[in-house]
Amino acid sequence: MSTRTTCPYCGVGCGVVATVAENGVSVAGDSAHPANYGRLCVKGAALGETTGLAGRLLAPQVDDQTVSWQTALDTAGERLNAIISEFGPQAVAFYASGQLLTEDYYAANKLMKGFIGAANIDTNSRLCMSSAVTGYKRAFGADVVPCSYEDIEKSDLLVLVGSNAAWTHPVLYQRIVQAKHDNPALKVVVIDPRVTATCAIADLHLPLAPGSDTALFVGLLNMIAAGTGSLVDFEEGDAALAAAHEWPPEVVATFCALPRDVVTTFYDWFITAPRAMTLFTMGINQSSSGSDKCNAIINVHLASGKFARPGCGPFSLTGQPNAMGGREVGGLATQLAAHMNFEAADLARVARFWGTERLAQTPGLMAVDLFAAIGRGEVKAVWIMGTNPAVSLPDSHAVCAALAACPLVIVSEVVADTDTSRYAHIRFPALAWGEKNGTVTNSERRISRQRAFLPPPGEAKADWWIIAQIAQRLGFGPAFAWQHPHEIFSEHAALSGFENNGMRAFDISELARLTLEEWDRLEPHQWSVTPEALRRGWRSSGHLRTVPVSPVRAMAQPTTLYPLLLNSGRIRDQWHTMTRTGTVARLMQHIAEPVVEISPADAARFSLCEGDLVHISSPRGVMVARARIHHGQREGELFTPMHWNHCFARQGKVNVLVAPVCDPHSGQPESKQTAVRIAAW
Ligand code: SF4
Repeated sequence: MSTRTTCPYCGVGCGVVATVAENGVSVAGDSAHPANYGRLCVKGAALGETTGLAGRLLAPQVDDQTVSWQTALDTAGERLNAIISEFGPQAVAFYASGQLLTEDYYAANKLMKGFIGAANIDTNSRLCMSSAVTGYKRAFGADVVPCSYEDIEKSDLLVLVGSNAAWTHPVLYQRIVQAKHDNPALKVVVIDPRVTATCAIADLHLPLAPGSDTALFVGLLNMIAAGTGSLVDFEEGDAALAAAHEWPPEVVATFCALPRDVVTTFYDWFITAPRAMTLFTMGINQSSSGSDKCNAIINVHLASGKFARPGCGPFSLTGQPNAMGGREVGGLATQLAAHMNFEAADLARVARFWGTERLAQTPGLMAVDLFAAIGRGEVKAVWIMGTNPAVSLPDSHAVCAALAACPLVIVSEVVADTDTSRYAHIRFPALAWGEKNGTVTNSERRISRQRAFLPPPGEAKADWWIIAQIAQRLGFGPAFAWQHPHEIFSEHAALSGFENNGMRAFDISELARLTLEEWDRLEPHQWSVTPEALRRGWRSSGHLRTVPVSPVRAMAQPTTLYPLLLNSGRIRDQWHTMTRTGTVARLMQHIAEPVVEISPADAARFSLCEGDLVHISSPRGVMVARARIHHGQREGELFTPMHWNHCFARQGKVNVLVAPVCDPHSGQPESKQTAVRIAAW
């Protein structure tokens, strides 16, 4: 039997057809899904090999003892109640994941913000795209991505910045390759310090100095103004434009460590292209100035008019399958459900809709601050759902120490043994991909169904069910009396339209009326952002605007003791902390162990040969990796994957090195730059 569902890995959001047979699950691309039209990358194609039960958490546990659901839920409820009674709601936090389905996310957000009464629910999406959220909100007044995949074929110039899409968004990359094949006039610019696989299709590669992207785009804004004399969407005395005047190409070239003619070629191409898109992701977002980088990109699209029309726009590529769904339901500590904000009218509206008098009135702790508060003993209970912060957060030694000292750690997990679940007092077994049922939203705002095609294994339960059971034990049962995820989706969709009257950009309330059968059959549905809404509605309400930004260097700079800059990121065949993809033999064949890419000059400087085991050290820790000499690596810089956990390489965790330095607006950590030193093992 075959089931149409959605890949649980990256934000491309490919449709897949899963077929269950006697010898296991096979997976093929869904030719009818508009995100991929049948294409799959190697991770998606291997999904069937991840559906076995080896290593699964299949029963609840309390204090390392297997117990019944009744005991686990009662114990969690009693311990949470005790902490809330003694220390108040701010002593409790949830840390969720872009792996959750929208319905799970909605339930968690409603319980924490609406009924426990604190906004301490943040998510691993904070590490992924929160700078893009801030950038869009500062420019448009709303967290809205104004692009679609179909814009790619309509564009004349695609600018990929901070994105190795060939490895991290492979099906989207394949679509770009096809578009370029079909239209040889389509130009592709890749802006990345490294020569990556994505550079294979680049007509122009700008290997700029790490973190200098803001200067590059501020300089482009300056050239747009100089070239046209009449700017779109700019007002007299625009502060962004005034700041840009200080960035002529020669200044940009020096700041970015690029040849001047490379900079001016990029500027010429952007200005003369009738239609241009900028696709950006972690290389932009994961920065201590990530929000400003996003706004520098958005500014040039607003100024040049390459915006809100086909083939144009600033397009944030989300990393996770449901980072966008999380944004829609308010799964960040800094926003309310349905893209609403911590503002009086929104607070009152959400409180009325949920029928609560306990709604949190102020934003909660963002991811890095949240774990720091656990470390200080201010947060005394944390419930971690579907994510592995002991590997993925910066300063992971400190994160582990915080979890070890926390009085109550609850983990909802699919996998029995993760770096994080080792610290858990209570473990809830959650349903995995193929077993759970709900919706996800991809990078282009397209809501797709993830459908169950396997029976629940062991005692595993849906995340929303677990959350609703805890809500009952905290005394909030009537507001969480759902029997099916369809009811949660309907409530979420209804909230998006509640007292909206067209005033808010996110409104999917027409989906609130779907029957269970209609919801079950729901075809991929892209919620609309009309050019009219972007051009008239928001601008007339004073929202659409450029944001003045000033280029700055990254916090981390080389020193005598730590003379190299370490970049971290994804590799082609692994996902996040490898708890799923690390179990698939053929995915491990691509890169089987932690590696560090180093330029030939630096290899000679530090007396390293290809294949040497090396120590990489920062003031915070040490990791071990195998040296790979890479001609595409800039001198003075290293690159290492972010994936390895304790099961696969105990000393391969890059985040033991990374400082918890964050963008002041978005709270997103600077995962792309750490000052380190390297030495042979
Ligand atoms: Fe899955 Fe992303 Fe690969 Fe598509 S591109 S199959 S969503 S990992």
